[in-house]
Amino acid sequence: MQPIGPSGDVGLIGIVVQLAACVLVTVLILGLRRQHRDRDYFALWSWGWIAISIAILAIAIRYHVVPMVAAEPVSLSSGPLVGPLHALYLAAKLAFFGFLLLGVLALTGDRRAVPRDRLALLIVSGGLGVAAVAVTRDLNELVMAQAAIVVPVLGVAIWRLSRLPEEGRNPGLRILLIGLLLLTAQWALYLLSFARAGLPPASLWHRVLAFMTGFNSFLDAGELIVVGIGMALVLVEHNHREATATQAARVGVETAARARLAEILAAAHEGILTLDATRVVDLANPAAAVLFGHTTESIRGLSFDRFLGTEHREPLWNALAAVTRRSEANPPVAVRREVIGLRDSGDAFPMELAVSSFGDGADRGWVLVVRDLTEVIRAREDQERVQTQLAHTARLEAVGRMVSGVAHELNNPLTAIMAFAQDLAATSRSEEDREALTVIVQQAERCRVVVGDLLIFARSRREERRRVAPGDLVARVTRVFGRESSRSQVAFDVAVAPELPPIEVDATGMEQVLTNLLTNAFQASPPGGRVTLTVSAADGRVSFSVSDTGPGISAQAMPRLFEPFFTTKAPGEGTGLGLSVSHAIVSQHGGTIDVENLGPGSGARFRINLPFVDRRQGEVSGADDTADEPPPGRVLIVDDEPAIRVAVRRSLERRGWQVDEAADGAEAWLKIEVGGRPMDYDVVVTDLRMPGMSGIELVDRIRERHPSLADRTIVITGDTASPSVAEFLARLPTPHLQKPFDIRQLIEVVDRVRNGAKR
Ligand code: ADP
Repeated sequence: MQPIGPSGDVGLIGIVVQLAACVLVTVLILGLRRQHRDRDYFALWSWGWIAISIAILAIAIRYHVVPMVAAEPVSLSSGPLVGPLHALYLAAKLAFFGFLLLGVLALTGDRRAVPRDRLALLIVSGGLGVAAVAVTRDLNELVMAQAAIVVPVLGVAIWRLSRLPEEGRNPGLRILLIGLLLLTAQWALYLLSFARAGLPPASLWHRVLAFMTGFNSFLDAGELIVVGIGMALVLVEHNHREATATQAARVGVETAARARLAEILAAAHEGILTLDATRVVDLANPAAAVLFGHTTESIRGLSFDRFLGTEHREPLWNALAAVTRRSEANPPVAVRREVIGLRDSGDAFPMELAVSSFGDGADRGWVLVVRDLTEVIRAREDQERVQTQLAHTARLEAVGRMVSGVAHELNNPLTAIMAFAQDLAATSRSEEDREALTVIVQQAERCRVVVGDLLIFARSRREERRRVAPGDLVARVTRVFGRESSRSQVAFDVAVAPELPPIEVDATGMEQVLTNLLTNAFQASPPGGRVTLTVSAADGRVSFSVSDTGPGISAQAMPRLFEPFFTTKAPGEGTGLGLSVSHAIVSQHGGTIDVENLGPGSGARFRINLPFVDRRQGEVSGADDTADEPPPGRVLIVDDEPAIRVAVRRSLERRGWQVDEAADGAEAWLKIEVGGRPMDYDVVVTDLRMPGMSGIELVDRIRERHPSLADRTIVITGDTASPSVAEFLARLPTPHLQKPFDIRQLIEVVDRVRNGAKR
């Protein structure tokens, strides 16, 4: 067999070149590896480069120790060092190819680089190296054995690399593939050449082989450089690709974040702006732009001061400057203010401004959050107004409760005073006494009107509508003013049109209205003057008109006439409640009240219009046809107030009635049911609020046991405000009287009820 191997100096130079190339590439690879320890495939390759450097060093030493002899097969047993050095050479070279393959598998993702693999590889390579040296006889056989292992290893590596997906391919990989292909081709040629050993020296194969074996170290060096550069480029490009991908991902994240921020700013309800250090608008979200009457584009570059009320400009920036000065090394500062904002149209509006600084030094700017406070301030004002109204209502309610309490307390004494005075005036023989008693009655009457006004004002009197003839209403009221007329020497004319239709009213309330108007008219008219009350009907309405010959109403007083507590009278003369209460009552009836001056110094005229009821709809109540000649009868007066019992008794007795008294419900019940049979009372007059058995209990018991007497029971009460009493009064078949009442009113009702019962 033809000897294969380097011969003489050429072979030695080739080995030195190969060693130099190997060391250079190894240094390059190790240098790169230091910077990229996380690439495991590259770590495996760097192990391979260390291994091949050791292999070539071993072969260099071997040829230095025993120089090769040309044209002789290289013996593996010439000296004690040659065999082990060859074994080391072979083991290290196999380790190189093993690490190369492991690195490729790690790069292509076929398996992860585990330390166990490295150890196994080193052991297998070492074992193969020793075994090959032991089994083979010369270098030729050793090279063949090596080729038989290397070619399939390289084949697998090439196959795996060529299967990498397109995006994983790069120039480095291609160079690496070329290097590996060249290595494979070289080793395959070795195999072929050994298969064809013994060819004639002049044949082409022989010449090729001679060249390859003569210059194999140079070829190896070239191929190793290509492979090393390929590996280095694979790493560099791998890093570059990853860096580019990371950068792209970061840019993508940043772009998405910026887009999200823009969306948030656009969606924000509050206006947000940034200003540069000179207060010029840099950016504005749509809410801010719209607030100031601009678009996000048109507002840019404008000085923000134009959107601030002039009086706020300097103070705001001065305040910010002061805070900035105080803050060390200019950390962000913030100021929140309520200021006047100016829209582009020049309209001013209240706005809340939160200004914060950002950036440093020359890059310092301002970020502003602005809020239109127009609605907020309106809501705040509404709330304050409601609170004031609530407080006012609460105060009025308290006053109302107090007023109604006082008015009720006055009821009983007033009723008694009026009843006694009227009674005495009717019986007294002394002209002087009669005059004094008449004054007492008149003054008590005035008090009664005031108490009535107060109760209506405090809304503690329940209105009770019934159908009445306007003439009856007028008759009841004017009776009192007949006396007033003669006392004040003011003539009093009453003109009621005949055949007036009925009106459905709260009679007590309407009597109060007419009384108020007539009282004012008599007070306004000087002695010798005239007060006129006319009642007429037209256009579905009944008109009550009260005119006087007083001074009329001044221009200042006119607009305030119907206000509660407005009075021009001296303290003690007027309360200022009369007209306001009258207005409220008339309005509740769906009517109107108006006033006019009759000419300079000619007096005033008040006119009330009330809707009337179609006459065909029913009977009018309250006809005053039985006031005269009461037939005698038996009546029981029940009241815990002795003064009232006595006053009522005296008046009724004078009209021929037989009167019994009881101080509470229980005593009354005893009197009604003497010995288990009803006493023959024609009429029972009872108060409601009494100690022990109340009037309500008494009336209910009468209704239960003696229903016919229940139809002749009259209630007198000062308490019409509580719902239970109101509900009870509504159930009564008979009229009730509210304290303080005119005693003549009571006599009328007693007569009427008794007659009604007889009919
Ligand atoms: P009062 O009579 O207690 O003052 P009113 O509410 O009845 O309260 O009247 C309010 C004011 O209206 C009176 O103080 C008076 O100035 C004026 N006024 C009412 N009626 C007349 C009238 N007939 N002539 C002139 N002024 C009147």
